[in-house]
Amino acid sequence: MPFATGVLDDLKARFGADDLLTSAEDLIPYSFDGTAALSAMPGCVVFVHTAEEIKAVLRIATRAKTPVVTRGSGTGLSGGSLPVPDCIVMCTARMNRILEVDRANLTMLVEPGVTTLAIAEAAAAADLFYPPDPGSMKISTIGGNVAENSGGLRGLKYGITRNYVMGLEVVLPDGEILFTGNKCVKDVAGYSLKDLFVGSEGTLGVITKVLLRLIPKPAAKRTMMATFNAMDAAAQTVSDIIAAKIIPCTLEFLDRTTLRCVEDFAKVGLPDCEALLLMETDGHPAQVADEAEQMVAIAKRNGCVEVRTAATEAEANALAGARRAAFSALARVSPTTILEDATVPRSELARMIRFVDQVAKKHRLRIGTFGHMGDGNLHPTFLTDERNHEEMERVHTAFREIFDEAIRLGGTITGEHGIGVAKKEFLPRFMGDAQMRVMRGLRKELDPHGILNPGKMFD
Ligand SMILES: Cc1cc2nc3c(=O)[nH]c(=O)nc-3n(C[C@H](O)[C@H](O)[C@H](O)COP(=O)(O)OP(=O)(O)OC[C@H]3O[C@@H](n4cnc5c(N)ncnc54)[C@H](O)[C@@H]3O)c2cc1C
Repeated sequence: MPFATGVLDDLKARFGADDLLTSAEDLIPYSFDGTAALSAMPGCVVFVHTAEEIKAVLRIATRAKTPVVTRGSGTGLSGGSLPVPDCIVMCTARMNRILEVDRANLTMLVEPGVTTLAIAEAAAAADLFYPPDPGSMKISTIGGNVAENSGGLRGLKYGITRNYVMGLEVVLPDGEILFTGNKCVKDVAGYSLKDLFVGSEGTLGVITKVLLRLIPKPAAKRTMMATFNAMDAAAQTVSDIIAAKIIPCTLEFLDRTTLRCVEDFAKVGLPDCEALLLMETDGHPAQVADEAEQMVAIAKRNGCVEVRTAATEAEANALAGARRAAFSALARVSPTTILEDATVPRSELARMIRFVDQVAKKHRLRIGTFGHMGDGNLHPTFLTDERNHEEMERVHTAFREIFDEAIRLGGTITGEHGIGVAKKEFLPRFMGDAQMRVMRGLRKELDPHGILNPGKMFD
């Protein structure tokens, strides 16, 4: 449907030129997100500052049945904030105030456009800790994190965004505003509606405030790097660490392809090896010392080539930074980088990594794999070129095989990046009829005209 002129007139009556983009050259940066090979031109982009403004946009859109795609920073990797052609892109990035840090209740109330990093820094300034740390945390917004239920490097020990959401203010598609949740540690009144909105990918409502749980800052941390000549040995090290009842805050891996790209990009002195494990433990200093010692011993028992312990915080940050740079480093190598997040139970990790390798060989594709080994969350990253249609066909076939195998091994089609448009064809098979029916019913109830992010998650 072409963008309705009436819609633009109504928006112009409410928003100034600074907050309403309409020219083609201004719209181009909002015609894609972090997902490779997907783009569509919106009809306009509107920057909102308050829940009342969001309500006004939704009312205008509902009247004209114009789709609205909510956007944070647009770093999503499943096409969640990709525009529907001729939609209104409603950007919440300018709603970026930290409204309250409540030290008595260990909570923080923020607007949706605050970056994850700003939240972590504000928590640290109050001597507190906000653990979720997606690789994109310098720019991703908390609204996007909640809508995608994002995870990060510390997910193994500290959990993911959902575990830190205590309350949400949401504008529903009809313009009604609700607040679900509160500062109570225990609250079992009614359905847990806030959990419905976490991970809803902008399809059920627009998040306008987030009440976050904070925790005390760990007193000590130790960061180590172990290198291996075989991926299986690294995977076995992970299994043995968990079996020894150690839950490190970070247990990440990089394969050889990724390592080479990262070293070339970040120059932190990473060795050339088959697999690298980044291991981090935090907590009470005595516990940290004990766990670090055990983890080193386990890595050595599994035949690691070398274990290096970061001597200073700067060195620790450089190692963690190298892992965070994995996607950007791989993205420099080829015109198109497609990053996936197939996830399997930890026990199946080595098998899944081997499978990804076989798929790469079988389809003559270049895949760098890294990810959250402790969570079973892999990021097979295809280094390709979207202009090469024949190769893209092979990439899509390889994806299908990888997701099929993940499901067969009891895993999931996405551990953190969401469904969006990139994985919606796999969702019905993964969820089954009953779950799909309930999800569609909820969507219909909350958004009867289907104006919020249509075509995402469902067809
Ligand atoms: C280099 C890189 C590294 C990454 N690393 C990780 C990682 O480690 N872990 C991880 O989980 N993800 C990761 N991601 C993916 C991405 O950063 C996350 O999904 C992030 O949460 C998206 O935030 P955003 O502000 O960019 O949201 P956007 O991409 O703008 O939007 C994402 C989705 O949220 C919806 N949305 C945004 N704001 C709102 C709102 N206020 N109300 C309702 N819906 C809303 C959008 O409609 C869309 O469906 C990475 C991405 C990149 C580019």
